Amino acid sequence: MEICDRCGAVIEDGDIRYLIRIVSKVDDGGVIKNPIADEEVEELIKELENVSADDLERDVYEDRSYILCPPCKRSFMKNPMGGPAGESTDDESVL
Ligand SMILES: [Zn+2]
Repeated sequence: MEICDRCGAVIEDGDIRYLIRIVSKVDDGGVIKNPIADEEVEELIKELENVSADDLERDVYEDRSYILCPPCKRSFMKNPMGGPAGESTDDESVL
């Protein structure tokens, strides 16, 4: 038995469930070509001292997994980014 991470519905053994995996990786878009200067490294270290190791790690790489029931999976896939664009697709009469 599992619990849907979105709506909390009980998913019995043998019922269909979906594993949603979200991997977030930092990407500079290939624009950083020059190595960082020593002074900049020192500045970065100073800045980073105020950030917890956990936060820092999440900024660079984050891997999350969720279990969803079928209705939540459909709903999630319609609007995975959670932005307003997906909201209107629920109503198919809207063109
Ligand atoms: Zn659900």
